Amino acid sequence: MAAPAPRQRTEARPGLRTAQAREEPCQVEVRRSQRRRRTVSAYREGDRVIVLLPARMSRAEERRWVGVMLDRLAAQERRRSPSDGELLDRARALSRRYLGDGVEPASVRWVTNQGMRWGSCTPSDGSVRLSTRLRGMPAWVVDYVLVHELAHLVEAGHTPRFWSLVRRYPQADRARGYLEGVAATAHLPLSECED
Ligand SMILES: [Zn+2]
Repeated sequence: MAAPAPRQRTEARPGLRTAQAREEPCQVEVRRSQRRRRTVSAYREGDRVIVLLPARMSRAEERRWVGVMLDRLAAQERRRSPSDGELLDRARALSRRYLGDGVEPASVRWVTNQGMRWGSCTPSDGSVRLSTRLRGMPAWVVDYVLVHELAHLVEAGHTPRFWSLVRRYPQADRARGYLEGVAATAHLPLSECED
């Protein structure tokens, strides 16, 4: 997927529509750019998919390209989106590597009803839940949210001890910045978790 053009270079002619018949309906915003000659690109911004098209493209071409780009994005996100079983394996490996043997998640699953949180956990039964909003994000970001929730199995609050556990994961600060950026771009008051 091509890198998104900086917004100021994009002549915005936003047209919102809903793409149905895919796994999860999403809003598609088409932006046309005078600077673009032939290249088409698409990326996710919060709950929307932004499709960047050359200004001169016809409506019929636009429809075709929006379909093509949504399919490509969905395929990319499927590749980047582990199943619940794979998530549990990853959580166990991360736990052993960064938190020691005492921390053992019982289950990890994707959930859609996370509200404004990226992740949550229940220390009493060892269950960890990740927001499906994380799907399609780089693995090191998903891993950070897993480490964050796993650390809560040891330490409930966001205490200094909690953060010293989380920072054993080398990309913790980078991932926190990434998630803050996503939340800000999407104008969502997303927080890491509820504590
Ligand atoms: Zn937390």
